Amino acid sequence: MTSLHWFRRDLRLGDNPALMAAADSGAVLPVFVLDPALWSAAGDPRRAYLVRSLRALDGQLDGRLLIRRGRPRTVLPHLVREVEAEAVHVAEDCAPAGRRRDEAVEDALGVPLIRTGSPYAVTPGRVRTGGGEGYKVFTPFRRAWQDHGWHSPAPDHRAALSKLDLVDGGRSDDLPDADPPEGLTLPDAGEEAALDRWAEMLDGPLAHYDTERDRPDLDSTSRLSVPLKWGEIHPRTILADLARRRSIAADTFRGQIAWRDFHADVLFHTPSARDTSLTAVLPDDSWAEGAEEREALAAWTAGRTGFPLVDAGMRQLLAEGWMHNRVRMVVASFLVKDLHVRWQRGAEHFMAWLIDGDVPQNQLNWQWVAGTGRDASPYFRVFNPVRQGQKFDPDGQYVRRWVPELRDIPGKAVHEPWKLPRSAAPDYPEPMLDHGAERAATLEAYQEHRRR
Ligand SMILES: Cc1cc2nc3c(=O)[nH]c(=O)nc-3n(C[C@H](O)[C@H](O)[C@H](O)COP(=O)(O)OP(=O)(O)OC[C@H]3O[C@@H](n4cnc5c(N)ncnc54)[C@H](O)[C@@H]3O)c2cc1C
Repeated sequence: MTSLHWFRRDLRLGDNPALMAAADSGAVLPVFVLDPALWSAAGDPRRAYLVRSLRALDGQLDGRLLIRRGRPRTVLPHLVREVEAEAVHVAEDCAPAGRRRDEAVEDALGVPLIRTGSPYAVTPGRVRTGGGEGYKVFTPFRRAWQDHGWHSPAPDHRAALSKLDLVDGGRSDDLPDADPPEGLTLPDAGEEAALDRWAEMLDGPLAHYDTERDRPDLDSTSRLSVPLKWGEIHPRTILADLARRRSIAADTFRGQIAWRDFHADVLFHTPSARDTSLTAVLPDDSWAEGAEEREALAAWTAGRTGFPLVDAGMRQLLAEGWMHNRVRMVVASFLVKDLHVRWQRGAEHFMAWLIDGDVPQNQLNWQWVAGTGRDASPYFRVFNPVRQGQKFDPDGQYVRRWVPELRDIPGKAVHEPWKLPRSAAPDYPEPMLDHGAERAATLEAYQEHRRR
């Protein structure tokens, strides 16, 4: 019997239960469908990364990955008939758009669409309260998530490859040329690069993860958000290694994987969270509109706000398609609470540039910072961009790395260049606003909303 394995967010061979389910049922045709709807929505950095990741996967499969362009509900039934496949295997897509697409494919296929596993340790929707609902708060979710547990990893990539009896699906459509935007450097893509990165983390920065993960100057985090987004590594592989290390640091890292599952679970239960605030916290008329909003967004996206930590983060995003988590929180707070721009605008810019850009993680983290999420940072907690810099980039190295106009300012003075003579950084903008005044305006709007 022949079946298709339709790769989507599982661009790996190892620890891939859906691929193993296909292999167990007979010969397998591995296919990736380049869906024009997803392709056009992705933004250049993610498109460029995807093409590299597909090339890496094709290399692992000895050039046997079949690429087809078109809408899955048209392409796949056609392919099923061409090779007389008896089933199509996938890892479940739990996000709202993916679920709708899969239902449409299922209707058109004529053979079963078999879902095995998902991109999460625990598939969204599985962990529920005693009343059968989804959790709204992280801490009890994490406890129930841990109690629920997860399977051990499926066979690794070498074992998986030896099990696969690959079918030749004919000539692939060409992968489109997809260069990253000028000035953006992509990390290595593919399963092997992901496993190497995880091995480096295990042998190095993991030991101090609990105390150093908030320091953007130290490169102390794993940068696995990118391979996790594309499924080049599965969280279960990570959790299995963490289980062998009993330390606060390993437990803290496991907690971050739990946040990833939590956000996917919240979106599973409330698909509207993609675009709509789960809790309204400000009056509608308190947001910047028109020219005011455009100017705010222009300075913020270019990293020219005059606040060094904010600008460093926004420029890291343009240079790497990635930003450190602490800095993501600071720049997001600055946009929403200092510039009074709706979180959805910032989320859109992040989705255009992040190579780990992922709907559940991006939208729910924006809602967390904006104070509009289910288990969010309280709205009245406004990040002070200067104090955050002094605390988490104590010697100013992160800022100097990303803001060349400030490179001649030594030490932590770099976080307040306006206190120095103008000649210290002549090309760097003055702060575009008074943080104290904007914070007060935000808190006043918050009180006004409560009064109404
Ligand atoms: C405004 C905003 C937008 C974000 N957008 C995204 C996004 O589009 N895609 C994305 O993957 N992450 C997003 N995050 C979460 C987080 O910033 C990144 O996952 C993290 O910076 C990735 O770096 P890392 O892999 O080195 O993390 P590590 O510190 O090494 O953490 C390990 C893994 O845990 C998970 N994780 C860590 N922090 C979070 C978190 N706050 N929420 C959910 N999972 C987390 C990630 O999968 C990460 O790879 C966003 C955070 C904020 C504040």
